[in-house]
This record gives sequence, structure tokens and C-alpha cells, in this order.
Amino acid sequence: MNKEDIKNIKELLSSPKEIVIIPHKNPDGDAIGSTLGLMHYLKKGNHKATIIAPNDYPDFLKWMPSEDSILKYDQQKDDCDALLISAEIIFTLDFNSLGRIGDMGDAVATSEAIKIMIDHHQQPDDYAQFTYSDVSMSSTCEMVYNFIDMLGDTNKIDEDIASCLYTGIMTDTGSFRFSSTTSETHKIIGKLIEKGANNSQIHNSIMDTNSYERMQLLGRALSNLKIIPEYRTAYITLSQEELNTYNYKKGDTEGFVNYGLSLKGIIFAAIFIESHQDNIIKISLRSKGDFSVNELSRSHFEGGGHTNAAGGKSDLNLKDTVDKFISILPNYKKDLKA
Ligand code: 5GP
Ligand code: MN
Repeated sequence: MNKEDIKNIKELLSSPKEIVIIPHKNPDGDAIGSTLGLMHYLKKGNHKATIIAPNDYPDFLKWMPSEDSILKYDQQKDDCDALLISAEIIFTLDFNSLGRIGDMGDAVATSEAIKIMIDHHQQPDDYAQFTYSDVSMSSTCEMVYNFIDMLGDTNKIDEDIASCLYTGIMTDTGSFRFSSTTSETHKIIGKLIEKGANNSQIHNSIMDTNSYERMQLLGRALSNLKIIPEYRTAYITLSQEELNTYNYKKGDTEGFVNYGLSLKGIIFAAIFIESHQDNIIKISLRSKGDFSVNELSRSHFEGGGHTNAAGGKSDLNLKDTVDKFISILPNYKKDLKA
């Protein structure tokens, strides 16, 4: 995003607009934090701003300011389509391709609204008039902070905006641990705390919401964990039957994949989660160092993401998906073998 783009966006936002803001399907903390943070900011400029999420998100995000105003496309399609048609500006946040918003993709592609993408995923598609893409960024929330800063408006950041942006930076950096966390990230976090983000309360709201059943499901996931030491790889499976046993709810498996990566000597971890509803195996991949799970996911599991965190899917059954996974490891022996 260059100076000319910023000048044009400033001009565009100088009078009240009808705006729709969209996060990716199965939104996470960064997707919800960045869309809500941006919505609160735009409302301060007297715009009419509405967030439309493709579908629902985990309960542990449902304390966020004005979270209850978010529309869900899969539940309120007609209302959402009307808003998409009348929108003058559409912001797409925390995703790089309209394929990441499911059924909503067509409505956005055909909309006449001016589109603005803010995102940190690799290989962004070129559908927006204004693209602010930076794969070195920790999170889309960090980029929304920068976006507000580029517009000269950090003085407008209040407690609500700060809390939302803090949340997404925290969740996308694994609480400021991942290598994407820079000194700049910490400086922004410092400013957000100054603006009123209550860091310890936010950590509690996100992290300390385990249900007993989720703990039991984690126990099952850990007992299913397998390691392939020669490829420094660990993986977990969870079948639909196992999810049912522990009364699985959206978000319950969040973070499970990281346990594999925390094993000494392991640099590549995966989790395979069976979904009867979507008729797929949902896959999450994590790595340490230079090994790109984005590339592996794009090549083999119809997905993508970042170098060290990516997702994808498989139409095979759980066992065949795992067999496929194991069979492709030798292709990556240069990176994976100790
Ligand atoms: P997670 O494993 O936590 O679902 O996602 C890890 C990262 O990969 C996130 O940045 C997420 O946006 C991205 N991601 C997850 N699933 C998919 C997918 O199916 N396709 C693509 N392109 N990216 C995904
Ligand atoms: Mn993100």
C-alpha cells in the first residue's frame, strides 16, 4: 500500500459510506479481532459498517466488544446478500483468496463495491482495488493498527479497538512466541495497552475457558498422537466418533496441533480432524524454521497459509488421508531428515 493508495482511501473515507467487512470462513481470533477493530474505527468516522462472517466462530471469542452485531452468511443469507449489494466499500480481512469465504465468494466477486484487502497470508489473489498485503506481519490485527496509523488516526483508537486488535495479535502469535513477533509487534502491543486493552483479562477470556469435555478431548488427542522420528514429524487424528464422545463444539480443537510441535526434536506437526458435516478431513499443519507448511498444503491438501502455520483439507477418509500424509514425507526429506 503506497502513499497514493492511502491518499485515495482517505478521500474515499472522507464522507460516510456503507461498508461491509468480511473475515475468512471458520474465523479465528485474528479474523474476528481485526474485523471488529476496523468496524469500531470506521464507525467513529460516521460510516455504516457491518461485519459479515461466512459462518460461526468459537465461544471463546464471544466476549469481544460488539461481537453480537456480526452477521453470519450461512444463517442470514438474504440479509447479507442485500448488504453486499448495497455496499460501497468491502474490506476483506485475514484471507488472500475469495475461495476462503465459501459461498460468499461469488457475491463479493460480482459486487460493484470498492474492495480493500488487508492480509498477511502468502500469495494473495488480485481481486481488490487496494491491496495491503504483508506476509512478514504477525497478524492482520497488527496491519489494521498500521492502516489506522497510515491514515493518521491512532488518536481515534479507544479501549474497544485496542482490545480487539490486542486479541488478534495475541492469538496469531501464540501469545507473542512465534517468529513473526517483532519488536514492532511489541511496540504496537504496548500502545494498545496504553489505549486501554486489558492484557491479563484478555488472556483469561481467551485461554481460561476450557470445558471439562474439551480437556477430555485433548486427552484423547494426545493419546492418539504418533511420531515419525526419522522425519521429525508428529501427527494427531480425531475421528468424528471421538469428537461426538466428548460433545465437540467449534473451537474445541484449537491449539491441539501445537502439542506435537512441542515435542523435543519435532519440527513438523499435523492434526487430522474428521468432519461428517463438511464431508472432509480438516487438516492443520505447523512447522518450525524454514520448512514451509504453506507449500506442502498447497501442493497436497488444497490449502495454504503461512510458512509455519497452514491449513487444508482432504476428501479421502481419515485412514487414507494419514496414509497419503506419510507417503509424501520422503518428498521433503531434505528439510525434515535430521
Ligand atoms: P488453522 O490450522 O489454525 O486452521 O490455520 C492456520 C493458518 O492457515 C491460518 O492462517 C489460516 O487462515 C490458514 N488456513 C487454514 N485452513 C486453510 C485452508 O483450507 N486454505 C487456506 N488457503 N488457508 C487455510
Ligand atoms: Mn491471521
